[in-house]
Amino acid sequence: MPDSPYRHLSHAYGRNHFTLDRPFQAILRFHLGTVPDLERLGEFAGKDLYEVADYVDKFGHPEHIMWSVDGERVDRAWMAPSEMRALEWLLKEGAVNRGPHRRGDWFEHFASLYLIADPGIGCILTVTNQTAYAIHKYGDASAQALLPSLIGEEDPIRYGATWFTEIQGGSDLGANRVRADLHEGRWTIDGDTKYFASNAGLAHLALVTARVGPDGRGAKGLGLFLVPEHDREGKRNFLVRRLKKKSGTVGVPTGEVEFHGAQAMLLGDVEQGIYYTLENLMVSRLANSMAALGIARKAYLEAYYYTQTRTTFGRRLIDHPLIRRDLLDLEVAIEGALALAFLAVEGFQKSWTDTPPYGPRYHYARLLTHITKNVTADMSAYVTKVAMELHGGLGFLREFPIERWHREALITPIWEGPSNIQALDLLEVIAKKRADRTLLQEIER
Ligand SMILES: Cc1cc2nc3c(=O)[nH]c(=O)nc-3n(C[C@H](O)[C@H](O)[C@H](O)COP(=O)(O)OP(=O)(O)OC[C@H]3O[C@@H](n4cnc5c(N)ncnc54)[C@H](O)[C@@H]3O)c2cc1C
Repeated sequence: MPDSPYRHLSHAYGRNHFTLDRPFQAILRFHLGTVPDLERLGEFAGKDLYEVADYVDKFGHPEHIMWSVDGERVDRAWMAPSEMRALEWLLKEGAVNRGPHRRGDWFEHFASLYLIADPGIGCILTVTNQTAYAIHKYGDASAQALLPSLIGEEDPIRYGATWFTEIQGGSDLGANRVRADLHEGRWTIDGDTKYFASNAGLAHLALVTARVGPDGRGAKGLGLFLVPEHDREGKRNFLVRRLKKKSGTVGVPTGEVEFHGAQAMLLGDVEQGIYYTLENLMVSRLANSMAALGIARKAYLEAYYYTQTRTTFGRRLIDHPLIRRDLLDLEVAIEGALALAFLAVEGFQKSWTDTPPYGPRYHYARLLTHITKNVTADMSAYVTKVAMELHGGLGFLREFPIERWHREALITPIWEGPSNIQALDLLEVIAKKRADRTLLQEIER
């Protein structure tokens, strides 16, 4: 793509976000013994994708198409064509969602999400990856057949979704009311309370938690189901009630979804649904950490280059001691959190094939993930705020991309479980699973 006038708005635009990030490369080398080739993705992330994501935030919001021109209920999300092309590139050329089960590598997958950074586009990719991950681990042969299209190996591309939260509870999944029932060997789903459904209108398949059997069993009474957009007769299998208006993450359509006798496939053992869901949340919490880090890095880049051009009191900003201290402070925060996050990825890489009842390496990966999710989200909110401030008044203008990064950073502490929930889950994995023992062994090693 030729240079666009967008370069007048941003200092980070037009650079290769992989090649310029040597601390990131050093961390990858530490874990992998070599640096994977992410140059093409780094170029895409610093140019085409950077511009497209900002365009979508400002002008290209998804729109709910409830009815077709022929009066048919379609419930699709209209998305900016440039965003759809970027997604296709990321899935096919960027090979973002290919874990070890698809001849890929989790380090490269999560490293790619760091370079992509945009939490809207990152969310679309992540919930699709989570769907593929659950199918790979717990899906039957008919579900497995859908896998290649979810990871860009086969056309047409299919998108996934993870619909767990309901109006009465996101943290408290035990309050889920959407039900699953078995009639003559076939599962159906009913309920209208799925309240935060990302990829609504885009997803071809969704992972859905639903209550099975009697009420009152809390989270242990949940099964995990795969619900296709169309039923066996080709009719819509769920309805999108509306799309939400959000402060950020605009690139992903987030809506409310209703099920009225939707046909569903059970994943794995019906009694283990909550454990599969928690496993799945580990994938998205790590992805969220990468988005938080990537957002912070992009805001930092904008600030770093800006402080080299802006002059105050006869000196470039970067030549003022306090500005240098600020930049160093931000860099240390990013690099420390990056190191922690890739330690958690290593934990995941070693344990991702584990299934209930799990063992110490899975619990240790969970422990690292809860800490990482919290630390990276807080760091991102802080770094983006300071990077914005380093732009002075200009940092507050919607005309330039720097203001977006702080808005985007603020989702990262909330979804995938806010900080108190991470803290409570961390306590659980220490008190009940003794993951602290593995941590101490690792520290001693
Ligand atoms: C843009 C966006 C997209 C989303 N997409 C999806 C999606 O695709 N799928 C999906 O399933 N969900 C999705 N969510 C939902 C998101 O995961 C939840 O909003 C989040 O997990 C918090 O749940 P909640 O909103 O019900 O907050 P609540 O659970 O009501 O929590 C409110 C506050 O209370 C705190 N709190 C709750 N319980 C306790 C406790 N016991 N002790 C101490 N503090 C507590 C929480 O930490 C939080 O700060 C999305 C949310 C947003 C904003």
